[in-house]
Amino acid sequence: MDIQKKTRDELIKELQKLRQKYNSLKSIYGKDTVRHHQAAQELIIANKELVFQNDEKEKRAAELIIANKELVFQNDEKEKRAAELVIAKEHAEQSDRLKSAFLANMSHEIRTPMNGVLGFASILKEADLSGEEQQEYIKLMEQSGVRMLNIINDIVDISKIESGLMDVHLKESNINKQIDYIYTFFKPEMDRKRMQFFFKKSLPAKEAIIHTDREKIYTILTNLVKNAIKYSDEGTIEFGYNLKTENQTTVLEFFVRDTGIGIPKNRQEAIFERFIQSDITDKIARQGAGLGLSISKAFVELLGGKIWVSSEEGKGSTFYFTIPYLRQPVKSVNSITILSE
Ligand code: ADP
Repeated sequence: MDIQKKTRDELIKELQKLRQKYNSLKSIYGKDTVRHHQAAQELIIANKELVFQNDEKEKRAAELIIANKELVFQNDEKEKRAAELVIAKEHAEQSDRLKSAFLANMSHEIRTPMNGVLGFASILKEADLSGEEQQEYIKLMEQSGVRMLNIINDIVDISKIESGLMDVHLKESNINKQIDYIYTFFKPEMDRKRMQFFFKKSLPAKEAIIHTDREKIYTILTNLVKNAIKYSDEGTIEFGYNLKTENQTTVLEFFVRDTGIGIPKNRQEAIFERFIQSDITDKIARQGAGLGLSISKAFVELLGGKIWVSSEEGKGSTFYFTIPYLRQPVKSVNSITILSE
């Protein structure tokens, strides 16, 4: 009986202990579960935050890559711009030097014939000159006057070209007659130099009538023949034209060939620029302002053609230029004016 009672009491106690333990365990485990749950929630939020931050970082990195590319591009542009500025500066300096050289050369070109005119005029005042001497001095005065007029005409032409005021007047012109005229004009000078002078007209009279600016063709040919004579001391000068077809357009290709001093390879492009002479040391000996070829180039281009030279030092030069072979009047070509005769 005692044993049974004791066992029952003990069992009740143990049960109470177990209940307490269960409660404490429940309270412990119950709280931890809540904590775990909270921690898990926090972790999920933190993870989402991290993912978001990561996305942001990637976006930022992509933006930085684009910004970097932009900077590299801007840098390249700046370097290009800097290189262009260096070139522009060099051009400005060269143009400045050319202008100074041009002024010096121009004052020489104007002063020399002016001195000629004044000098011979004062000699002519002397009473004891023979008629022959007087004629000789008057001729020299005329030559000086012509030389001065030529230089002034060149200056006027180049300023008109530079300011875009040079007009083109297309009208019926006989190319063969121009060749004849230039030949007759320069023949006496060629005879004086004891040089041979030839011309070539490739078209019969009827087909040689085209629509072009006669004065400009005349100026170009005169400049080229004058140079051929100026830069040759012996041999032959031949000039004229051939009919050619270029990219399905028919052109007249003019040429002026001499057996003169020739032009160094590295100067063959520069001579078409204003104020440039192929050999600066030669310029006093062979008078000229370095304008003739740049005027000729501008005229050829206004007429829709091109100009170039083929030359070998010591052997001679051939200057070529083309103009369109226009048999019919052209209605409108940019700033070109069409005149009827
Ligand atoms: P310039 O008044 O000096 O003759 P141009 O513009 O007509 O001016 O010619 C420029 C330069 O080209 C000349 O100074 C000369 O050095 C060179 N040149 C032109 N034509 C010839 C030629 N037929 N033979 C050799 N050099 C030439």
